[in-house]
Amino acid sequence: MSTAPQSDTPPSPYKTLSVLIVDDDPFVCAMAGRVFETLGVAQVVQAHSGKEALDKVATAPRPLDVIVCDLDMPGMDGVETLRHLPHVAKGAGIIIASAADMQILRTVEELARAHGLTMLGALPKPVTPHAIAALLDKLQAKGPKRGPFTQIQADRQRLEQALADNEIEPWFQPKVSLADGSFKGVEALVRWRHPQLGVLTPGAFLDSLESSGLSDHFAEHMLRHSLAQAGLWTAAGMPIGVAVNLSVSSLYRLDLPELVMALVAEHGLTAQQVTLEVTESGLMTDITTPFEVISRLAMKGIRLSIDDFGTGYSTIQQLVRLPFTEFKVDMSFVRGAQENERVRIVLDSTVEMARKLSLSVVAEGIETKENWHMLAAMRCDLAQGFFIGKPMPGLEIPTWASNWAPRAAELTAGS
Ligand code: C2E
Ligand code: MG
Ligand code: MG
Repeated sequence: MSTAPQSDTPPSPYKTLSVLIVDDDPFVCAMAGRVFETLGVAQVVQAHSGKEALDKVATAPRPLDVIVCDLDMPGMDGVETLRHLPHVAKGAGIIIASAADMQILRTVEELARAHGLTMLGALPKPVTPHAIAALLDKLQAKGPKRGPFTQIQADRQRLEQALADNEIEPWFQPKVSLADGSFKGVEALVRWRHPQLGVLTPGAFLDSLESSGLSDHFAEHMLRHSLAQAGLWTAAGMPIGVAVNLSVSSLYRLDLPELVMALVAEHGLTAQQVTLEVTESGLMTDITTPFEVISRLAMKGIRLSIDDFGTGYSTIQQLVRLPFTEFKVDMSFVRGAQENERVRIVLDSTVEMARKLSLSVVAEGIETKENWHMLAAMRCDLAQGFFIGKPMPGLEIPTWASNWAPRAAELTAGS
């Protein structure tokens, strides 16, 4: 249901949103700004070019909730801007406002989704309060991965305590072979067992952890606990792999290879059992330190994975340039491919190219049998997603594995 604009009836459901309007025409920008103000949105920022938009997004004091983007702009046009956006504006809802015809708008919408953006919709210009309100309500219903609706407030002291008390811990999501269904490994995903709020997912607290200067401490915590768990499974006769997510800032830590290798030894693992997943984004700037860290990890046999491939900056060039061994196709790419023939062709050739480069490919967000069979037909290596298993505490993995075996046999029968 959309909410009709009511100029002075507080409180507005949109009050806490922060919005960026991108249009090369200052008049159009100002008009759209007025529309959001009418709806009670307190924080509206404008940008008059794609470049300015990316700068504003990157330097915004807190993540933007909504970005309204024009398509036809001089310099960096809207399509290019949208391609760069996932890199800086994860989680923002995107509205395209353009005079272009519906067919073009649809295609651009598809493209933006394939880049991993949360599309709220496309509108003809000039935008009206009613149309905007309808799209904003969609944002609220979707509950973005990281946004004002889900973020919790926690100061550094509380976060340190949560780490020390192991309220913050890894859960594990299985990864299986698409060829024969065998259980290959798990990805460690952080969860916070909050005493009052229940089990929180990273969208609610990861930003706070990183902005409190606890990134290194947190990365080490996740590495320690995840590798310790993998050591227990290995000792029990289940020598599966474990993948740990690292934010790019961890790659500026020169002692990371030593830390990882010490944990590998301590827990009776082999280096090949350990994968580090990095979202490619920040690797673009100052590349020397991360390059050294990545190379040394690779030399020691640690596997390196590019996460969220297909959402923006991760490109095959980067894969070739750096010693990565794997890449993970983002779930939006999987979903896009299921719905759209063109995206499917792009995904298919990406998987094929990876195979030729001897990289392994993991498809994320496998939610249906159709997703499974599509990726299996593309000869993608590994699959991960709710269809196979949700992230779960380490203790539940053995039970999951025994329940998975017969399903795997059924799925891969005859192939
Ligand atoms: P990611 O590394 O790409 O992890 C995959 C995310 O997709 C996880 O969300 C997982 O629960 C979710 N997922 C898996 N299968 C499906 C599916 O079939 N459908 C849907 N809709 N979702 C699925 P989660 O746990 O909320 O993590 C979100 C992101 O937070 C991760 O994305 C990763 O970038 C980051 N993250 C998680 N744990 C850590 C960590 O320990 N350190 C760092 N630096 N980042 C982490
Ligand atoms: Mg990951
Ligand atoms: Mg991912």
